[in-house]
Amino acid sequence: MNKSKTENAQFREFLLNLPKTEIHLHLEGLATVDTIWSLIQVNKLNYPDINSKEDLKKEFLVNSLNEFISLFINIIQNSFIKEDDIKYLIKDAKEYLVRNNIFHAEIFFAPTKFLQNGFDFQKMVTILDEGAKEIFKTEKRTVKFFIDVSRSFGPENAMNNLDLVLNNPKESIIGIGLGGAEIQGPARDYIQVFKKAKENNLHVVAHAGEDVDAYSIWDSVRLLNIERVGHGISAIQDPELMDYLKDKNIPMEVCPTSNLFTQHFVKVIEKHPIKAFLDHGMNVTLNTDDPTLFGSELINEYMILLENGIFTPGELLKLLKNTHFACIMDEQQKKATWKQIEAIIQKSQWSIAE
Ligand SMILES: [Zn+2]
Repeated sequence: MNKSKTENAQFREFLLNLPKTEIHLHLEGLATVDTIWSLIQVNKLNYPDINSKEDLKKEFLVNSLNEFISLFINIIQNSFIKEDDIKYLIKDAKEYLVRNNIFHAEIFFAPTKFLQNGFDFQKMVTILDEGAKEIFKTEKRTVKFFIDVSRSFGPENAMNNLDLVLNNPKESIIGIGLGGAEIQGPARDYIQVFKKAKENNLHVVAHAGEDVDAYSIWDSVRLLNIERVGHGISAIQDPELMDYLKDKNIPMEVCPTSNLFTQHFVKVIEKHPIKAFLDHGMNVTLNTDDPTLFGSELINEYMILLENGIFTPGELLKLLKNTHFACIMDEQQKKATWKQIEAIIQKSQWSIAE
């Protein structure tokens, strides 16, 4: 092993042991082959070409966005037949948090498709909330949820999702997000939904600039008053927007592997705008989006940036710090936990980049 490889391996080990946070991942994106295979068995489902766990494993090896969407819609979502099946995802989430030593995660849950399949909202959020409590009890890790009201099904559906959230308050459900097909659902269509969410003290975030040009980010921050930008990579097109995001210190939830996967704005990791954003002084955080589906873990998102020479260990620690402070957590707790993390870093051979 050459010197840099040894150093990278040492940093990986250090990073793995460091308590981390993650603020952009989807519960359904945590579904493992084991989970879907169990659901196929339990729910006695038949899919063409899937007769064994090995067959299913092959389906999970997606190579394009179309294959990913097909896997997601035709297999993953269809395998959930009753509300209790969501408990499998809670187990997957718990194992993922433990594997990556994530002590606080904010996870999206998109109820629309489940509701269309006849699931009961109250039962679903009860499972999420009890799941979060169980993870805290057994692992001392906090999980909070954002309900993705979705832009794929129109504003009326999104308002309905918001009303369901407001009528079924749960400790672990802290806000709403806007995910789904960005091109189909412009931010301006969701102004009323986000206004009402804010009036009811919910936190609000949105995917923006993942698939659509910089104007989508402008609209999301100005019209929806979002607290964080999901992805936001098309901000690179607009220096004025980059200044704005920097000046307002709005956290960017960047997910490199996901962006490489969709291939819309980023074709190769070396050209990912994450470096330009950090160099510009923007508040960049690092996340996975759909860990098991993209075959990535949070630790890999850091390592891919190190191994390709995009960031130094110090800069990666800066991303880790930004992600920590972009969390929605009690401010005192945030400061206290950061103190502990900082103490570990100070004892190491690495230091956080300024
Ligand atoms: Zn996402």
